Amino acid sequence: MADTLRNLPKVQLHVHLEGTITPELFLSLARRHGVDLGRLKNRSADEVYHFTNFQEFLYLFRDVCQALAAPEDYGVLAAGYARAATEEGVHYAEVFVSPSVWTYFHRAIDVRAAMESIREALDAEQRRSGLVVKLIVDLTRNFGPARAHKTLAYARQMQDLGVIGIGLGGDEANVPAREFKGVFEEAREHGLHTVAHAGEAEAAWSVRDAVEIIGAERIGHGFTASHDPAVLELLAERQICVEVCPTSNELTGIWTKGSPHALLAFDRAGVPVAIDADDPALFGTTLLGEYERVAAMVGSEGVRRFARNAVAHSFADAQTKASLLERIDAYAGEDRLTANG
Ligand SMILES: [Zn+2]
Repeated sequence: MADTLRNLPKVQLHVHLEGTITPELFLSLARRHGVDLGRLKNRSADEVYHFTNFQEFLYLFRDVCQALAAPEDYGVLAAGYARAATEEGVHYAEVFVSPSVWTYFHRAIDVRAAMESIREALDAEQRRSGLVVKLIVDLTRNFGPARAHKTLAYARQMQDLGVIGIGLGGDEANVPAREFKGVFEEAREHGLHTVAHAGEAEAAWSVRDAVEIIGAERIGHGFTASHDPAVLELLAERQICVEVCPTSNELTGIWTKGSPHALLAFDRAGVPVAIDADDPALFGTTLLGEYERVAAMVGSEGVRRFARNAVAHSFADAQTKASLLERIDAYAGEDRLTANG
């Protein structure tokens, strides 16, 4: 199954660049920048990302952010991400970056230089393999709407570096989407797409708010929407794609392995589902691993349908979408022949 799924052409819509940092890169940057690794000090690369509760994960995330201190670190990170994505069969990706988190941990960091470093690495991979990567700047709820306006200004200034939209991750339980209505409207006025994480730490109303109040074009996770038929209907009616990341859901505790995943309810209700990996390195998974988990739930036909959804609901231009769908269809034909023969 792994090899078959590797060759399935993929579009990636929900991955955080910072969450793709390998343990080896994290440890090497942490040492270079003199980050106090405290409890992690004596751990090997294999063990460094082990955490047993969400608080430990937050500490780990803090350490990772501290290690990503210099603009060129982000280029190294992006090069590693892009190389791995190509190997997993990704042809096109929209990747989250969180400059407001970078500047929170490194007040003096030159955001533009970091983004240029990322762009350079992504362009090099595009020349090598053809992988196209666009960027979505995450506003991060925790920092509030005033800061989000400043981050939006960064995003606008970096449209020439492949920034195509803004996202809303972070503390859903304490900072509601409605506070960002103005920022999201302003972003759209400037030609940026808008997406949001919702339904992860709050009930279905939060997903409804993300769609109806701030106008999110896609929803990250959306998990709790599966408990509310009216919100499912809203997502289906407006064809809002939900980016589903099972391992992330399991580790953040919103889904218990073995129980039916929300994606089944989405799919039954006609809500477009796309498969993704969120913070793959930190969560000990890969995009391919997530495809395999979902294949075990819905079979290979279902996974191919979800792969098509990711293309259709990406912000790629019509020509890119048509060519990606063609590749998936060609692959599906081959796959069926292999399966039958
Ligand atoms: Zn996410």
